[in-house]
Amino acid sequence: MQNTDTLFHVIDHKQFNRSILDNLCNLTTVIRTKAKSREGLLALRSLLADKRAMLYFTQPSTRTFLSFNTACQILGIQTSEIRDPSTSSEIKGESLLDSIRTFSSYVDLIVMRTLEEGIAATSANLMNSIERPVPIINAGSGKDQHPTQALLDVYTLEHGFEKRGGIDKKVIGMMGDLKRGRTVRSLSYLMKHYHNVKLVFIAPPAFQIGEDIKKELDAHEVEYLETETLEDVLPELDALYVTRMQDEHDTHNESKAVDFSRYSIGIEELKLLKQDAILMHPLPRRDEIHPDVDKDPRAMYWRQERNGMWMRAAIIAKIFGIEASIQNI
Ligand code: ASP
Repeated sequence: MQNTDTLFHVIDHKQFNRSILDNLCNLTTVIRTKAKSREGLLALRSLLADKRAMLYFTQPSTRTFLSFNTACQILGIQTSEIRDPSTSSEIKGESLLDSIRTFSSYVDLIVMRTLEEGIAATSANLMNSIERPVPIINAGSGKDQHPTQALLDVYTLEHGFEKRGGIDKKVIGMMGDLKRGRTVRSLSYLMKHYHNVKLVFIAPPAFQIGEDIKKELDAHEVEYLETETLEDVLPELDALYVTRMQDEHDTHNESKAVDFSRYSIGIEELKLLKQDAILMHPLPRRDEIHPDVDKDPRAMYWRQERNGMWMRAAIIAKIFGIEASIQNI
């Protein structure tokens, strides 16, 4: 495997280029394959057994938390966690940055998710200024960024299109609350690294993709289309990435003002989707994908969820520079 740039903090999409993306996808597959045998799993578990990680997740999380925790276990890293800031010294008035600095005294890696934007970036800056910096991984920052989700989504797309030349030249639909969906935002940014991808943003006008993303896509000549009507575009999609309404970010019940039921997939909608298309969702879902769809071979979201654990193991492995040791297992 070609070794590309190193990785320390993982904060946002700007850090990734095509060679790192390809490198991380290859590493993910290697780890996933090696972990299939007991010997492989035990060997992986010995690689970072001298490391400790702090999972600081003050915004609710099921998949991201569990997949990071499991990814650490796969590589032998011991974890501690804070999920409720009222149990930490923040309640005594300690600043979040002082708390982060304290974590760095005890662990070798900090993975963090916060409701507010920009905290992971500020924490990484703090680390860069202290004597014993530890890497910070952004596991979701408000409605802005979710870079590790974007990486696992890239992996799921690449894998799903394995026999069809990967992501290049595909038409990828993104549907739902695109304005406040950080997964869609982060994934859209990464699409500029693939050749001739066309993005189709399907959302009610009030929840369409942000101007900042469109500007970035324009600057990189990525073709995109915005529409309100799923049925008009469904037959041309190679992948459809469905998301839920992000109403935790409502300031005055704005999500209640739209009929979001139009932005959902059931058996009828599946009939319009190409036979070899893939259907993704970062989860949790509400009514956007009917459970009957789960048994369709195009439904990829449960695999996407598992891919998260493997990709996060690959990210951590790259941060600690153990790619060659993994290859040698
Ligand atoms: N789990 C994803 C996130 O944390 C998607 C979602 O919550 O809708 O952003």
